[in-house]
Amino acid sequence: MPSVHIVDHPAAALQLAALRDVSTPPEQFRRAARRLGSHLATAALRLVPVVDATVQTPLGEAPTIRPAHRIVAVPVLRAGLGLLDGVHDVVDAGVGMIGLARDHDTKLPTQYYANVPDLTGAWVFLLEPMLATGGSAAAAVTQLAIEGAAGVTVLSVVATQQALDTVSAALPADGHIVVGGVDPTLDENAYIVPGLGDFGDRLFGTL
Ligand code: URA
Repeated sequence: MPSVHIVDHPAAALQLAALRDVSTPPEQFRRAARRLGSHLATAALRLVPVVDATVQTPLGEAPTIRPAHRIVAVPVLRAGLGLLDGVHDVVDAGVGMIGLARDHDTKLPTQYYANVPDLTGAWVFLLEPMLATGGSAAAAVTQLAIEGAAGVTVLSVVATQQALDTVSAALPADGHIVVGGVDPTLDENAYIVPGLGDFGDRLFGTL
């Protein structure tokens, strides 16, 4: 069963509050998204195995650790881009991209773009800020070639319990979800309530 981690550090809560605030303009929204992306990545990194290593200082050799696996961040376009810089503030990571759009007829997420490096042996950070129904994150997990990946962690800003269940069902049993908050419900347009509105629109000012 995948694990779910809610990031409840006050520093993360401050950024989530800024993202939720209807009066936050796009520039501040982008900054809060980046900062919360760092908090999510910090929590996600704790779940990645490490190996012992050494680093050469000017005066000698110091013990350290490094991730046991190459990390690849995969934002789901376009909202996931809002978390990417924050992930890179915390850890060096390769980047893949996946674009999903809801098909008008079937209402199912269909892939319109994918450019993802080889994930064999890598640890995937899938960046999907809003887990409303969980349909697009579940589709992304299914459509990425993660069979050979060392691990998968979904990083999200706000989720519903319904979405956590859906994404958990799509993830491998040893997968993880790291989320900033869990909200109670969806409206008739599948927006999270209270949520924060449309993450992509608020990020890019396309309101
Ligand atoms: N996508 C968003 O941007 N917001 C929601 O509330 C749900 C999906």
